[in-house]
Amino acid sequence: MIAQGSAFGFEHHIKKCMESSPENRKAFETVACKAGCHFCCHVNVAATIPEAIFVAGAIRQKDMKDAEAAVKATAPCIANLDNARRQAKRIPCPMLQNGLCSIYPFRPMACRSHVSMNADECRDDLESMASTGSGRPITTLGVPRTIARALHHGVAQGCADEKIQGCTIELTAAVNLLLSDAAAVERWLEGEKVFEPL
Ligand code: SF4
Repeated sequence: MIAQGSAFGFEHHIKKCMESSPENRKAFETVACKAGCHFCCHVNVAATIPEAIFVAGAIRQKDMKDAEAAVKATAPCIANLDNARRQAKRIPCPMLQNGLCSIYPFRPMACRSHVSMNADECRDDLESMASTGSGRPITTLGVPRTIARALHHGVAQGCADEKIQGCTIELTAAVNLLLSDAAAVERWLEGEKVFEPL
């Protein structure tokens, strides 16, 4: 429910921002992101714990065997890789199936808030990371990132109030843990530090 609420809140604020001025509407209407474009899906995804639980729950409930197998295969490969080294190795997100995000309605705010204005820059960044180890600048919209940061902060504060672990975690690693340990959520709710902070 927390992850669902965050996603709803994010989309609500984006809509309000879009409707607030013709300039904002124009900016959002000219974003480069579209189905099938996934240059950005080769980095570690910073998620909240409720978001990882939401994604793992969707994979289980919808019996997404390909995504589950990909999560299990990818998690050990990225265990000690920072973004730069992961991009250099071009290791895609395991939720990326046939060029599309297989958990799109459940994707975390980090994915929702990366809004590029130029797909060529995204491609150049990934290719440059793979060949030289350093990236290229990407023109993105700032508002979605600001909204996502505020929501991340709110979730972390809510977890702190409830005395449960509320750090940011890496999505694939956390989903892998949740899929292999049925009691992980219960232990987290009891206050155990179940997840590895990003
Ligand atoms: S969760 Fe979806 S949008 Fe996010 S990195 Fe993975 S495939 Fe891409």
